[in-house]
Amino acid sequence: MDPSDIDDMFMEETAAMDMRHAIEREEMRLLAVARSEYRSIRNFASACRACGQDLRWRGFDLQVPPDYCTPECARSAPKTVQTLDPWEIAECPF
Ligand SMILES: [Zn+2]
Repeated sequence: MDPSDIDDMFMEETAAMDMRHAIEREEMRLLAVARSEYRSIRNFASACRACGQDLRWRGFDLQVPPDYCTPECARSAPKTVQTLDPWEIAECPF
């Protein structure tokens, strides 16, 4: 949402300001949750999945998945996540 949309939604300037502050606080909260989760995934993985470099002392970077050390490593890694195509699942034999 564009911050200027908030002014259109609220007639009163104080209500618009309260809403902007609430959104800011929520963004900060979500970022703190993301950082803490990122840190715990890095501590758990402990080494880059592509090159094996120690991850535990690397900082928070939204451009880099937490189990890789750099965007290059993340890109070079083979795709291991496979989702089942519901139409490919064999029919139940019973
Ligand atoms: Zn790496």
